[in-house]
Amino acid sequence: MSAITTDLLTRFDVPGPRYTSYPTADRFVEAFTAEQYVQALEQRRDGPAALARPLSLYVHIPFCQSLCYYCACNKIITRHHERSAPYLRYLSREIELHARHLGEGQAVSQLHLGGGTPTFFSDAELAELMGVLRRHFSLVPGGEYSIEVDPRTVNAERLQALAQLGFNRLSFGVQDFDPQVQKAVHRVQPAEQVFALVEEARRIGFESINVDLIYGLPRQTPESFDRTLAQMAQLRPDRVALYAYAHLPERFKPQRRILSADLPGAANKVTMLARSLAALKDAGYVYVGMDHFALPDDALAVAKRQGRLHRNFQGYSTQPDCDLIGLGVSAIGNVGASYSQNAKTLQEYEDALDQGQLPIVRGLAVTRDDLLRRAVIMALMCQGALSYESIELAHLIDFKTYFAKELVALAVMQEQGLVTLNDAGIQVTDTGWFFVRGVAMVFDKYLQADQARARFSKII
Ligand code: SF4
Repeated sequence: MSAITTDLLTRFDVPGPRYTSYPTADRFVEAFTAEQYVQALEQRRDGPAALARPLSLYVHIPFCQSLCYYCACNKIITRHHERSAPYLRYLSREIELHARHLGEGQAVSQLHLGGGTPTFFSDAELAELMGVLRRHFSLVPGGEYSIEVDPRTVNAERLQALAQLGFNRLSFGVQDFDPQVQKAVHRVQPAEQVFALVEEARRIGFESINVDLIYGLPRQTPESFDRTLAQMAQLRPDRVALYAYAHLPERFKPQRRILSADLPGAANKVTMLARSLAALKDAGYVYVGMDHFALPDDALAVAKRQGRLHRNFQGYSTQPDCDLIGLGVSAIGNVGASYSQNAKTLQEYEDALDQGQLPIVRGLAVTRDDLLRRAVIMALMCQGALSYESIELAHLIDFKTYFAKELVALAVMQEQGLVTLNDAGIQVTDTGWFFVRGVAMVFDKYLQADQARARFSKII
């Protein structure tokens, strides 16, 4: 990581998607209907069981008790915890409908509760949700069962309750330990509280603990962020996700409460990233890819070394490619050759379920070209390498002819030291690995036809 200089970061700081899917979610269309989604579910049910991909479930719980000003998530701010109960009833109905179309008792190897704030639900509500999921799906032993935790909403007893419900991974939203920064983003959570919770989570025996950090927040300076990084090294979570804050107040209303004058400038942001990479390396973390770091013995780092890394809407994973069922308002799914997304407002979501319909409002039936490019992009994002032959055999194309234009663009990246090309394939270099999304973007047909890249968050 030390070879990543501020000069390189400045040079290759281009806007681009994160490729948790290809095509990316902003390409979904309203012409994709709930009927098409049901068809995809039933095709999976009726197809040969041996060919069915394992299942991954994502459950979105949109409620948060207070607003973080940097937020770009789909959430509902409320102090009314009684709103959870009706939402849980709708979630249960959505789960039942899925089981009806998919068949009961399908094996699930990955579950993630995200939000919003999943721990806005009480322990009893979380238990009820897990009960409904277990009634209709079979959560297999050894799966990844994770939940996002807002440190302000849990204590030692609640962590214990989460373990008893079967969660084996926790992800703590920390963002920054600096009190001034926490105040500026309206998310005050003392470092001592986070340290105590992580210690308790370890004692309980959670397999993996992730901490999210964000650089580029208001009132941050390279020096203040150095202190946060030092505290993070002391905390020593198994995984660290380090995100860049993208200030898009015209798109995300909460961000209008952030004063532009408080934001660090571009040069300081690059300095923070460069120093973060160095600090994480010094603390013993391995760069997994795209914003993610892990201790060398964490399952993600091991999978990376063994070339077994996968990527889906839940980020990097050690689980093989799954069909993803998205549950809850705004959740995204990927079943067979289709992507789909639920209604983004609670009203629309509930109306559809009241009519006995799955609440899908948009999606995409992926084409052969999409599948081919997805395979190329995921190989680059996960393995940092691609063999022409494997793509040619799986997709019946001649790689060099099909991607002639893309290979010209990659030749330029080769001169810049980001990739090496040879007769057999493409290899992302150690340096290129830090800019891998820029390499992947070369194969994105939608971007090729679309100059409006400014919509995406920045690469760093
Ligand atoms: S950042 Fe997370 S906790 Fe904060 S308002 Fe957004 S969804 Fe809620």
